[in-house]
Amino acid sequence: MGIKVVKFGGSSVADAIQLQKTKEIITADADRKFVIVSAPGKRFDGDTKITDLLYLCKTHIEHNLPYEQLFQVVCDRYRVTEVNLGVTVDLNDEFEAIKAELEKGASADYIASRGEYLNAIVIAAYLGYDFVDAAGLVKFNERGRFLPEETNEALKEELAKHERVVMPGFYGSKPDGSIVTFSRGGSDITGSLVARAVEADVYENWTDVSGLLMADPRIIPDAKPISTISYKELRELSYMGASVLHEDAVFPVRKANIPINIRNTNRPQDPGTMITAEPAKTEQVITGIAGKKDFTVIAIYKTGLSDERGFIRRLAGIFEDYDLPIEHLPNGIDTASVVTSSKLIDGHLDEVLEEIEQQIKPNEVEVIEDMCLIATVGSGMAYRPGTAATLFKALADAGINIRMIDQGSSEMNIIVGVDNKHKDAAIEAIYRAFEE
Ligand code: ASP
Repeated sequence: MGIKVVKFGGSSVADAIQLQKTKEIITADADRKFVIVSAPGKRFDGDTKITDLLYLCKTHIEHNLPYEQLFQVVCDRYRVTEVNLGVTVDLNDEFEAIKAELEKGASADYIASRGEYLNAIVIAAYLGYDFVDAAGLVKFNERGRFLPEETNEALKEELAKHERVVMPGFYGSKPDGSIVTFSRGGSDITGSLVARAVEADVYENWTDVSGLLMADPRIIPDAKPISTISYKELRELSYMGASVLHEDAVFPVRKANIPINIRNTNRPQDPGTMITAEPAKTEQVITGIAGKKDFTVIAIYKTGLSDERGFIRRLAGIFEDYDLPIEHLPNGIDTASVVTSSKLIDGHLDEVLEEIEQQIKPNEVEVIEDMCLIATVGSGMAYRPGTAATLFKALADAGINIRMIDQGSSEMNIIVGVDNKHKDAAIEAIYRAFEE
C-alpha cells in the first residue's frame, strides 16, 4: 500500500456539492490518507472567496467600520455546508473565539488563516479523519521567515501518529504561536511539505482544470493537455505566466523526488498532468509555449566591446543599483543587450541610460520598448537539429519580426522577443508549426 497526499483547492471545497465530489475521490483510493484543504473558494463566477471576505473583515476593523455582518456571511457559509453534508460539528465556539480575537486586534494573517482552519474542521468530521492543525507544525521564525527543515521534522513526528488526516493549508506559526500565512495560493505549499514529510508516492493537487495545457487556451482553443512535464520545464513556463501551482510548491517535493499530479475535481476520470524530476521520454519536441508582455531592451553598441574587461560587471552593477532584474543578456562581438521589466524601469530609464553613457561609453544605445518574450519549452529540443529553424520559419511566415533570441545552454528552451502586439500571433504560429 502506498501513500498519496491530496490537496484540494478553493473551488474543490467551495460548498457541499463540491465536498461530495471530494469525498468520492478520497474514498476511491485507500492510499489517499493525507488531505490538505484550502478555504472555500468561488462557487460561481462573481462569487467571493472566503479568504477575501476575511481580509475584508480586517480592513473594516482597521477603518473602524462595522464588520459583524461580513463575518456573519463567512460563518453562514460554513453552517450551510455543515447542514447540507449532515455533519455535526459545533462551530459556534470556534466562531466566538475568532470574534474575540478580532476584537483584540488580531493580525491579517490570523484572520485569513481561519478560512482554511474552519474548513479543515468541517471536512475532517465529514470524512471521519483526524483534524491536525498546521499551527505549531509549519514553522516560521520570529521574523516570519519560513523554516523548511524544522517544519519537515515537526510534520514527520506528528503525522506518524495518525492514520488519516485533514490539515488546513496556507499557514503555520512563529515560536510564540502567532499565525503566519504563505502568499496567496499557499495551500499548494502545505500539500508539498506534507508530501515530503510522509514520503508520499505522489502529491495530487486537485483543482478545476485537468492539468496544464501546451498553450493558453484563450490563444489556442484546441491546445493539447500536457501529460508529463519536468520540474525544470514547469519553472520556465510558470515564470512566463503559465500558472496552475504556487511556484514555491515545487521545492519540497522536488527535493524528495515526489511527482506532482495536477487533477480536476470536476473530471476525476482525466489523468491530468504529471510533474516529475526527469522529463518524459517521448518523441514530442515541445512541451509548452508561454509568453509575457512588457519588457524593455537596452541595446549597447561599442567597437571592441568584447575585448574589454569588466564591462558586464559594470553594466550589471548599474541595474543592481536601480534594483532592476536582468531577465536576459544576449551579446555579440560589439553589442550587449539587457532585457528588463518595463514596469520596473519606468521612471528610471533616463538615469539608467545616463549611467551607461558614463560607465560604458558606448558608440550608440538603442532602447526597444513594448517587447514580449515568448518561451518555447521542451526537453525534447535538446540535440534535435532543426528545432530553432522550424520556430524561426514559423514566425517569418507569419510576418513577425524577431527582436531578440536567447537559447539556454541546456537547450530546453528558446526565448524570442517580439512586439507586444504580436504576442498571440507568435504563440499561435509556433504552436501550429510543432503540432503533430
Ligand atoms: N485560501 C488562500 C487563498 O485564497 C490560500 C489557498 O487557497 O491556497 O489564497
